[in-house]
Amino acid sequence: MNRFFKRTKILATIGPATNSAEMIEKIIMAGVNGCRMNCSHGSNAERDQQIKWIRAAAEKKGRTVAILQDLQGPKIRLGDIKDNHLDLKKGDEVILESKEIEHDGGLTLPIQYNIAEKVKIGESLYMFDGKIISEVTEIVSSTAVKVKIKNDGYVMSKKGINLPDTDFGGDILTPKDMADIEYGANCDFDYVSLSFVQSAGDIEKLKQILLSHGSTAKVIAKIETKKAIESDEKLEEIVKAADGVMVARGDMAVEAGAEVVPIVQRKLVALCRAHAKLCIVATQMFSSMVDNPTPTRAEVSDVSTAVAQGTDAVMLSDETAVGHYPVETIKEMSKVISYTQNHSRVATISQKPEGGKSKVYDAISYTAARLAEQIEADIIVCQTASGITATTMAASRPNVPIVTAASNQRVANQLALIYGNSAYCRSYSENYGYELAEELKRDKRVKSSRGEKDLLVVIVSGDRDKAGTNTIKVRYV
Ligand code: ATP
Ligand code: MG
Ligand code: MG
Repeated sequence: MNRFFKRTKILATIGPATNSAEMIEKIIMAGVNGCRMNCSHGSNAERDQQIKWIRAAAEKKGRTVAILQDLQGPKIRLGDIKDNHLDLKKGDEVILESKEIEHDGGLTLPIQYNIAEKVKIGESLYMFDGKIISEVTEIVSSTAVKVKIKNDGYVMSKKGINLPDTDFGGDILTPKDMADIEYGANCDFDYVSLSFVQSAGDIEKLKQILLSHGSTAKVIAKIETKKAIESDEKLEEIVKAADGVMVARGDMAVEAGAEVVPIVQRKLVALCRAHAKLCIVATQMFSSMVDNPTPTRAEVSDVSTAVAQGTDAVMLSDETAVGHYPVETIKEMSKVISYTQNHSRVATISQKPEGGKSKVYDAISYTAARLAEQIEADIIVCQTASGITATTMAASRPNVPIVTAASNQRVANQLALIYGNSAYCRSYSENYGYELAEELKRDKRVKSSRGEKDLLVVIVSGDRDKAGTNTIKVRYV
């Protein structure tokens, strides 16, 4: 099958299991369209090396790959626990101290972030991915709080803490995030995502900071807090403020309850399509493949559902970061994506997607997508500088592959994660879209679906006119 036909993209987290030039080349060839680097783990020196490997592999194989820097945000973690294990009993009173202390085995635990100025008495505090539930009972000092434990269990070093009730008041970027942003601005990142976003303001703030550092990365809001999903209006504001969202199902389940996750996922896919934003469905998609060479039926069904809903991308976390079968995981995922898209159709949305740039862009993209379907074109070719035409086109989820000729490498990389898009960076000329189609045909990367010699192509382009994208042409190549 023609590789253009894998429309839903795969974003894979890089970690120890994929930390070599060889592994990175393998996962890209197995179907990875984007690599995620999680700032919560690993070092920047490792990331520098990984970026080089990814760019080299993409170049060598003629692929376009996006790289995403995932900022930790206020993902609060415990410090080191003596002997890496502490039993806790219901009713225990535990002090969480953010000053650098050494745990002596008692009930005063080190914590990596000062929550004393953020939390209020009576708020919930979960430890170890929700395995320990507690309530804040006292602000002990300017650096420490006391909590009362509500169930028996244990904690280990560096385990995550969730504060589902706490309002960070528009201040979710930590000193570590600021340092990571500064580092990232000088790296070749196409996207930056922010964890634990609570409001559209958090995204606007990050965008400003990125801009002040000269970054050209697009911004992804990770949706995983109770605050972000408290109303449909709030969710939509965040979607509109960001360039895309990640349905971060792991922490969302801990903070808001697992039962809310499927519905929020459905809402987010629809909102992203309506506003022509990137949607990534993440966490535990093929979890069992960390240790097994095949996924479970439920996991296959989960991925297939996300594909049928029309998400742009599905994500892998520990499966490719620390799993035993990273390449097999990508291959299995590619199989599920291909089968689903070839045997079902993503439902058309009733309204024309609004990309936000102008009514002209939206209408041209929408019309071209529908035209291509009606005439059963082999490909739609977009000529784009900003990527907006290709993104709004993809939001219509046409049943025809989109080939994009971008005049800028960053834009081409960003489009690698967008639904149905095969993006190439080519230097600008009046007919560079047409020339790209000729090149792909010559290299046998696209074939006529009718078995004909010529390709039937819809070309969308613009000229220096104020309207920007303003031309739809139908041509044989
Ligand atoms: P997030 O909430 O942002 O997803 P996470 O802690 O769940 O953070 P993931 O990126 O989802 O992290 O990866 C899953 C697991 O893989 C981590 O919990 C961690 O144990 C493991 N891991 C170890 N090293 C790395 C690494 N360098 N990069 C990513 N994950 C790593
Ligand atoms: Mg998270
Ligand atoms: Mg995770």
